[in-house]
Amino acid sequence: MSHSNKLEEIYKELNSSENGLSSEEARKRLVAFGKNEIEEAKRISPARIFFSQFNSFIVYILIAATIIAAFLGEIVDAIVIFVILILNAILGFVQEYRAEKAIEALKKLTAPKAKVLRDGKHIHINANELVPGDIILIETGDKVPADARLIELSNLEMQEASLTGESVPVRKEICILPEKAIVAERKNQVFTGTMVTKGRAIAIVISTGMRTELGKIAKMIQAAKPEATPLQKKLNVFAKWIGLFTIIIAAIIFVLGLLVMDGMIFIDLLLTSTSLAVAAIPEGLPAVVTIVLAIGIQRMARKNALVRKLPSVETLGSTTVICADKTGTLTKNEMTVRKIFANSSIIDVSGEGYSIKGKFFSGNKEISTKNIELLLKAGLLCNDAKIYPKILGDPTEAALIVSAEKAGILKRENEKKYKRIDEMPFDSERKIMSTLHFAGKEFLVFSKGAVESVLKNSAYIYENGKARKITAADKNKILEVNNKFAESALRVLAFAYKPSKGRISENNLVFLGLQAMIDPPREDAIVAMQKCRKAGIKVIMITGDHEITAKAIGKEFGLTGKIINGVTLEKIADKELREIVEEVSIFARVNPEHKIRIVKALQANGHVVAMTGDGVNDAPALKKADIGIAMGITGTDVAKEASVMILADDNFASIVNAIEEGRGIYDNIKKFVEYMLSTNIGEILTIFFGVILGMPLPIIAIQILWLNLLTDGLPAIALSIDPYDKGIMEKSPRRKSEGMLTQTSVRRMIIVSSVMAIGTLALFSKYLPDYEHARTVAFSTLVLFQLFNVISCKSEKVPFYRNFFN
Ligand code: ATP
Repeated sequence: MSHSNKLEEIYKELNSSENGLSSEEARKRLVAFGKNEIEEAKRISPARIFFSQFNSFIVYILIAATIIAAFLGEIVDAIVIFVILILNAILGFVQEYRAEKAIEALKKLTAPKAKVLRDGKHIHINANELVPGDIILIETGDKVPADARLIELSNLEMQEASLTGESVPVRKEICILPEKAIVAERKNQVFTGTMVTKGRAIAIVISTGMRTELGKIAKMIQAAKPEATPLQKKLNVFAKWIGLFTIIIAAIIFVLGLLVMDGMIFIDLLLTSTSLAVAAIPEGLPAVVTIVLAIGIQRMARKNALVRKLPSVETLGSTTVICADKTGTLTKNEMTVRKIFANSSIIDVSGEGYSIKGKFFSGNKEISTKNIELLLKAGLLCNDAKIYPKILGDPTEAALIVSAEKAGILKRENEKKYKRIDEMPFDSERKIMSTLHFAGKEFLVFSKGAVESVLKNSAYIYENGKARKITAADKNKILEVNNKFAESALRVLAFAYKPSKGRISENNLVFLGLQAMIDPPREDAIVAMQKCRKAGIKVIMITGDHEITAKAIGKEFGLTGKIINGVTLEKIADKELREIVEEVSIFARVNPEHKIRIVKALQANGHVVAMTGDGVNDAPALKKADIGIAMGITGTDVAKEASVMILADDNFASIVNAIEEGRGIYDNIKKFVEYMLSTNIGEILTIFFGVILGMPLPIIAIQILWLNLLTDGLPAIALSIDPYDKGIMEKSPRRKSEGMLTQTSVRRMIIVSSVMAIGTLALFSKYLPDYEHARTVAFSTLVLFQLFNVISCKSEKVPFYRNFFN
């Protein structure tokens, strides 16, 4: 009953402390307690998959007919048919089993992580390795990896709907609760699967895996079987129609055969027509599609795009607009402070990247940093990042630590001197962050944020060591410098401070100055952007940064359309937004809340929208977009959960690669559907016309089944993993409404299958009345036709013979 115990009692019971466990002890506990996983419902057994291959009415008839044939003395035929049926079932089984396995493998790709204290160090581990007694850290946007008791917290709010059904975020506290407190009332605990919507905390894991509250009710929320993708649903319907058509034709062949062919015995006809039905019904289609999609997803994963849901692969291929965040996705998110504005003058800062080697210049003259010490300290202290032993946290903040350390103002020293007591965290809506510090005798508030947000809250300005009232002229000058910095693509932050009586607030601040940093564009994103242009995909840059900075960076990417800022966006009605959104290429100074309006406007215009995001507030837009894309490095668990794709490298170029894969996969599926249908229809027509023309059966049951075994499944898989057409990113996106079978492909299939039937029958009749010889010729002809057909299906574009060499 950990919520009713004192923390010391919990440490004792779990044999742990606030310093966490050693990795050795954690390893032992992992063996004792098992993995921190919610066990899944039993999977369908391989035997069941195998036997389900026979589970069809037509197969039953064929089996019955074969047994009758055996009794009538056709033992060899019966055995061969059985063997082929079993081989067929094995092939079907392998396909379905692989599809299941591939889906399981995909789950591992997106395994959740946890931040934990082990051997006194903060490390990231797979969440399934957590054990009771571990000390975990959680912060805004995280999904809680295990049930844990809170040790320390700052403004912690949790979304616990998945567990308690309560949709309003719950505020947590450090307290001791009565033993009878129910889960929803346990304010001193956090639970597996719930989300941190605000703040941060340190907690000790008290239960893992199936012993957590979520584990206890796991059976109720067992993940449902993955839903069929729209394409699979369409193909299922399609396969049913083809099945019905085949059964009707087979029945007609059977009846006609009885009427026309006097010599034909009933059982042979029954065998042939049911074999034809078994062979021509494309029941393997959905499994092949699953395999192709799953293989595609693995291929995308190797290119840093982790797709979490199969259907998204299809949607990806039809993407018409990508809305991409600027920072980190289009740019490198490697910030370096280049300019400072303070005491009415501009200072240049030298140095590269995050190295703390660099100097401060006014013009060409190196200057002392005495006068800007407080400004640099504000950046250093109102800051959650780390630069030792490596860059951790927000790169914007890391850059501010670096600029301060260049002036010899060291983080470790100053954090001791100015102990942080409270904070108002940064959020993309307020665009400002503040911290309260106690410096021996006095309390100080440091704030930093977007220039407008800081200026709005500043009543004073700090100049050469003294604060005075800020004037309209000061503000104009600051905004002028801000614009100048922004024009050179710099990201600008303003800084302020104030003495305080021990409470944190953001009014009446003393303005300290500006720091402006570069964030170079990703070169591969520039190339990817050109690819998008050729592929008819529109790109919109979305950023919280200033309009002018956004414009300057947009130019490097060739984004030269209209720019709309958040303030204007607020004033525009949805209808008007719909009208102008087509010409907009940059949305600047927007809040995450604006993103959902942008998605809706684009979707209303018929676009298939891919949208990137990382924060908790991005989740609604990510869910609404056709392809929600979360950042793998900087993204929160909440954003990842709301997305269908996660970018392992946060890079725009990976989105474009994934779209290319998506297009290729769709094309390949189309190729093999066309192949399978045209060959099957070819077989049906051959027999159908043969019977109508009063010929004996051109191919018999065994041959049909054998043909189907060799030329249906394997070539289809070969086509599905065929290299993509080269010009795949040089055509416009496929329309969402466009079906799998276009008019051209239907025409093609009719021609191909008719040629097959006519050719086969012509040769067949040439060798009649030597029936055995003629049948063998017909069989070989059909096989050759089908092999040629595989090759001609490889590409719609190039002439058939060129496919031999591609
Ligand atoms: P995007 O990622 O959408 O391209 P962004 O990261 O530039 O945009 P935000 O993070 O919302 O957008 O930042 C908006 C503005 O807020 C920035 O221009 C900067 O002035 C300010 N800002 C950014 N990060 C911080 C921070 N950690 N603390 C204080 N202010 C910040």
